[in-house]
Amino acid sequence: KIAVVGSSNTDMIIKMERIPKPGETILGGEFTTAPGGKGANQAVAAARAGGAVRLVARVGTDMFGNQAVEGFVGDNIDVSHVLRDRGEPSGVALIFVDHQGENSIAVASGANGRLSPADVQAATGAIAEADVLIMQLETPLDTVSEAAAIAARAGVRSILNPAPAQALDDELLRRISILTPNESEAELLTGLAINTDADAAEAANALSQKGVGVVLITLGARGVFVHGDGVHDLVPGFEVEAVDTTAAGDVFNGALAVALAEGTPLGEAVHFANAAAAISVTRLGAQPSAPSRQEIDAFLRE
Ligand code: ADP
Repeated sequence: KIAVVGSSNTDMIIKMERIPKPGETILGGEFTTAPGGKGANQAVAAARAGGAVRLVARVGTDMFGNQAVEGFVGDNIDVSHVLRDRGEPSGVALIFVDHQGENSIAVASGANGRLSPADVQAATGAIAEADVLIMQLETPLDTVSEAAAIAARAGVRSILNPAPAQALDDELLRRISILTPNESEAELLTGLAINTDADAAEAANALSQKGVGVVLITLGARGVFVHGDGVHDLVPGFEVEAVDTTAAGDVFNGALAVALAEGTPLGEAVHFANAAAAISVTRLGAQPSAPSRQEIDAFLRE
């Protein structure tokens, strides 16, 4: 069982020749919407990878919230702790993508910003019954902290994906079983520049000295530097034809939680999560790119 505490957004994407400057209007874009938000992405990735997932989140009572919840139900995610907020709109991200794939993103957190410590307290049962809890940083920090405390008290393994990057206090870090920064997030958290695997090893050491049990620094196509549980090594990624790396980290975290919940040893769980994330980068989009368990198992047999 997996519990996810986090954000749900609707991504509204306009693909166009170039991103408009302030005051400028450009015609000729192509519009798509897609479900997103790191919490929702990780919940969907975990559910597809074979986890029984409960999501703790807040959306509005608008059309976007309705569509998000419908999507979760379609992926067999338990939505009994997805709260509907009458006062705030659902979270949205407005995204411009230019012809080179460069993007410019504005996020209105809306209801995500109202996910409170009291909300996660009300979901204590769902968190305490889980094998693994997953969190990110698109909801208020005191809410993340409360969820981590509930998991720590219940002896539930917790994963914090510290994205988007933000400074974190040592008290929160001590409550986390597994921290999964990417390179730039690890740089922000440690102040160390990461260019080589040796740099990643040093940053992982620095984070573990702050009290995090296991540190996994994701290094894009190179894979993951693993520190903790008796491992201090690079677990290489898979070579694939990357089309769109959006949500690679989200798929990694969701799949990792599933493998760990199944009792898979850390190194092997990271290998499984690398496979899921590698498949996702060969496909467009965030949630649409998350692979099923069958697809992950088939990829690993290849
Ligand atoms: P984020 O998406 O959060 O920036 P990374 O870029 O580190 O995080 O990617 C997370 C994981 O996704 C990597 O550790 C790896 O397993 C996988 N991944 C990302 N990019 C690629 C790629 N180009 N080829 C294969 N795997 C990838």
